[in-house]
Amino acid sequence: MANTEKPTVVADDVVVSLDYTLKVNGEVLDTTEGSEPIQFLQGHQNIIPGLERELYGMKVGDTRTVLVKAAEGYGEYDPEAVIDVPRSEFPADIPLRVGVDLTVRNEEGELLDARITSVGKDVVQLDFNHPLAGKDLSFEVTIVDLRNAEPEELAHGHVHDEFDEEELEFEFDEEDFEEDDEEEPGKNN
Ligand SMILES: [Zn+2]
Repeated sequence: MANTEKPTVVADDVVVSLDYTLKVNGEVLDTTEGSEPIQFLQGHQNIIPGLERELYGMKVGDTRTVLVKAAEGYGEYDPEAVIDVPRSEFPADIPLRVGVDLTVRNEEGELLDARITSVGKDVVQLDFNHPLAGKDLSFEVTIVDLRNAEPEELAHGHVHDEFDEEELEFEFDEEDFEEDDEEEPGKNN
């Protein structure tokens, strides 16, 4: 069933190479300029839904600006996800400064990303919202390349690049080495 024809437009199960620049309120927050494009598997929620949806049908070389509302980006800002934690709960080696990013283990054992948003005398405020929650996003995107996904990529639902750990794994068999002591036939003629 190997599909050898290169895809011509962005569609489900196509690997997309994309250059992008992300702006929020006109300020550039992230860009692939000066580095490699990102690669992802279209139709598998590898990127935020509001952006993925707008890419369908684009061709290599196409450029457009995609506006993504917060709800379809990193979600609305949740005031309940901001909590006050007594200073005494923090290990001594954590710098208690506004803007410091932390990983916190909750009661269920999940690891959650948080950011310190204020530091008081007794209480430190942690914000568990994504830094881009509540923000409307503006992406300028260019389709750099399109290719068919490998069957393994489709099975996993994501792109494998050449440096992927999964593909570097190998096993060697001790026997391959033990047998090497034998003279190769025909070597001393
Ligand atoms: Zn994988």
